[in-house]
Amino acid sequence: MSVNIKTSEISKLNAKAGISGKKLSVDTYSVIEKSVKYSKLTGGALDATIEPIVSLWGIGTDKERVPSKKEISEKLKLVDYRDIILDKKNSMVKLKRANQAIDLGAIAKGYTADEVKKVLLNNKVSSAIINLGGNIYAVGSRPDGKDWNIGIQNPLSTRGEYLGTINVTDKSIVTSGNYERFFIKDGIRYHHIFDPSTGYPANQQLISTTIVSDKSVDGDALSTSTYILGLDKGLKLIESIKGVEAIFVTSDKKVYVTPGLKSKFKLTNEEFTYEKGR
Ligand code: ADP
Ligand code: MG
Repeated sequence: MSVNIKTSEISKLNAKAGISGKKLSVDTYSVIEKSVKYSKLTGGALDATIEPIVSLWGIGTDKERVPSKKEISEKLKLVDYRDIILDKKNSMVKLKRANQAIDLGAIAKGYTADEVKKVLLNNKVSSAIINLGGNIYAVGSRPDGKDWNIGIQNPLSTRGEYLGTINVTDKSIVTSGNYERFFIKDGIRYHHIFDPSTGYPANQQLISTTIVSDKSVDGDALSTSTYILGLDKGLKLIESIKGVEAIFVTSDKKVYVTPGLKSKFKLTNEEFTYEKGR
């Protein structure tokens, strides 16, 4: 599913954009289908055709830079999930226009966590932590029967420091933030989650979004989506989806937790304030 591996299914599909479709494995097809589902649900906040924008900025590569407005508006014309043509019967996907390209970076890790969980369960492992860097799956309960206690990364500090914890059994916990991949130019932080309506890194008051769900692919799609949508729209979206909960952290160090998670969440870092109102 990688865009960086030239022989991957996604690379081959992208190379045929505007020309023909590509037959895909069931796995890759289903992740694209899932991405399109969330594009529709989020009004295009999540958009797998964001690839031309991702490679223009090159964040995390040796080519990272702030592109000109003109370059951004040119590339933005190529971004539109409605140009992903799905043919489920033949497991085929086609990109409508030349130079369009798919990047599944926002959800492939979540899909992978779900698959790893299946392997574990098929091998009778009933208690495990899957950690794919930002994507955690807490499989079953702890061996002693208690909930797992999972730390939520403090988005303002380095890796490994948490702002609070949640108690969960058999849940996916996925966090998106601006602290993992970014560069700073003239005092502005440019990170790797892009708003498809502007072509710039999503500039919201949110600095991290954590989604707790049964399936990690949903959590991954929703953590990236809500990061782009921002606090109000993000909370509304999560509250409208059954069985999905969220923890949002704002740049003014406020922590918002959806109702179903309140009894499970503990704020441990006094730098942050817990917004109990919502
Ligand atoms: P991480 O990869 O750090 O776990 P995310 O799950 O939030 O973080 O995904 C970020 C990745 O998603 C980016 O590196 C990029 O490949 C891709 N991406 C960025 N913006 C969008 C977007 N608006 N829609 C879909 N994918 C995006
Ligand atoms: Mg994601």
